[in-house]
Amino acid sequence: MGKLDGRVVIITGAARGQGEQEARLFRAEGAAVVVADVLDDQGESLAKEIGATYVHLDVGEEADWQAAVTAAKEAYGRLDGLVNNAGILRFNALADTPLDEFMQVVRVNQVGCFLGIKSVAPELADGGTIVNTASYTGVTGMAAVGAYAATKHAILGLTRVAALELAHRGIRVNAMCPGAIDTAMSNPAQLDPNADAAGMTDALDALYRKLVPLGRIGRPEEVARLALFLTCADSSYITGQPFVIDGGWLAGVSVV
Ligand code: NAD
Repeated sequence: MGKLDGRVVIITGAARGQGEQEARLFRAEGAAVVVADVLDDQGESLAKEIGATYVHLDVGEEADWQAAVTAAKEAYGRLDGLVNNAGILRFNALADTPLDEFMQVVRVNQVGCFLGIKSVAPELADGGTIVNTASYTGVTGMAAVGAYAATKHAILGLTRVAALELAHRGIRVNAMCPGAIDTAMSNPAQLDPNADAAGMTDALDALYRKLVPLGRIGRPEEVARLALFLTCADSSYITGQPFVIDGGWLAGVSVV
């Protein structure tokens, strides 16, 4: 028996990183999965490997959402869950951030999450789930990622309001707030075939040993397990909440 037997879940940004690990784990737990991304080759190949369906979905495009929902229902006949995982990060001080860059981050992270809720909620079976991927920077500040942090704070607002509006159908909406996780977003060496990505993971572990009580950067598989918890019946009485998964980073600072 899998924890997601019989459920159909769309995961955005699932071609790599945390979304990929969520797709793999959800399939292993019995869900039918729709892998959605703009990275078509990677997404198609992952979907083929794990027995999922791939759809091209730019989360900032409402028409793409409608097509993805239609594809999910045509392939599997129903829809039970959404993981809004797609996201982008840009580094800049607020005073140096061009408006275009700010709006690009808003479009993917915040509008993408909104359009996901708007497009999928009406089609979800009663008792369905939505898991939004916010961030550690959705609950605290971090210099040089102002646009990103603003969108991740906004995702928590969307999560709480959606939870209130959908609870009457038994649909639960929660958010994950990961700290630093070892994906291409934190470790761009993973995107360069000539780079030493494993060596960079070691370097990141060493860096986070100083910052994070648990002494290392997080792994995407660990976030996938939280997404599973929030999507399956183990979290049946939980809605509208942010879940921090950060190795203790937000707990505070140590002075000794
Ligand atoms: P990643 O860059 O490996 O994955 C992001 C995925 O989103 C990619 O597959 C990318 O193609 C996809 N994507 C980007 N723009 C898209 C669009 N317009 N439409 C559809 N898909 C799009 O990074 P990740 O760490 O796996 O990121 C997953 C989520 O976790 C993001 O929302 C990110 O903000 C969040 N997050 C990451 C970290 C971290 O340290 N890695 C920390 C906190 C939160």
